[in-house]
Amino acid sequence: MRIPLQKLIVASYNDHKVKELTLLFRNTPLDVVGLRSLSSTIELKEEGETFAENALQKARTVFAVTHEATLADDSGLEVVALGGAPGVFSARYAGEGATDEDNNKTLLRALRGIRDRRARFVSVLAFIYEEGGRVKEELFRGELEGEIVTEPRGTNGFGYDPLFYVPSLGKTLAELDTNQKNVLSHRARAFQKFKAWLDGSAST
Ligand code: IMP
Repeated sequence: MRIPLQKLIVASYNDHKVKELTLLFRNTPLDVVGLRSLSSTIELKEEGETFAENALQKARTVFAVTHEATLADDSGLEVVALGGAPGVFSARYAGEGATDEDNNKTLLRALRGIRDRRARFVSVLAFIYEEGGRVKEELFRGELEGEIVTEPRGTNGFGYDPLFYVPSLGKTLAELDTNQKNVLSHRARAFQKFKAWLDGSAST
């Protein structure tokens, strides 16, 4: 490993994300710990204008409390014809407290009559750790290219998965099973980059 690391805090209350990372490190001695396992509750805010700013904000907040190596992620959908929207507003595209279905309907409405359906999912990871008495930060980015279909297809996954078509597979993400999605997703790609960097075999 590039740095001696026994424990990794994941700045998330989402069990699914913590599990995905635990699987990635299952053959290593690294202990992956989600925020639910900590005794104190830490409020996570996403006030940035980019995925990187939001991931850094969450990682810094958790590191300030735990002083342990911390990984945070932020992700979302960027649609080319919409100038990158919904972007950092992906979870609340249809408004505060919007459901996945509300957001999907809003997206289909915004793209009505538009022929350019190109889109990408983006995931940015922020990693904070201490080395030689100095706090250091690294960013890792994963992307998945696709197209927005005109009607939802498939029942797996979450969020915009039923609208996100991957041409090379001929399927939307909601038509893939979890294992298939976890290999190729934007998040998986960012996680793989982080792992490769940690193993000392790649740069960001
Ligand atoms: P967050 O990074 O967990 O805050 O996710 C932001 C939002 O982006 C989610 O609420 C979804 O709307 C969307 N999103 C992120 N990743 C995915 C994905 O893998 N599939 C579908 N939607 C996603």
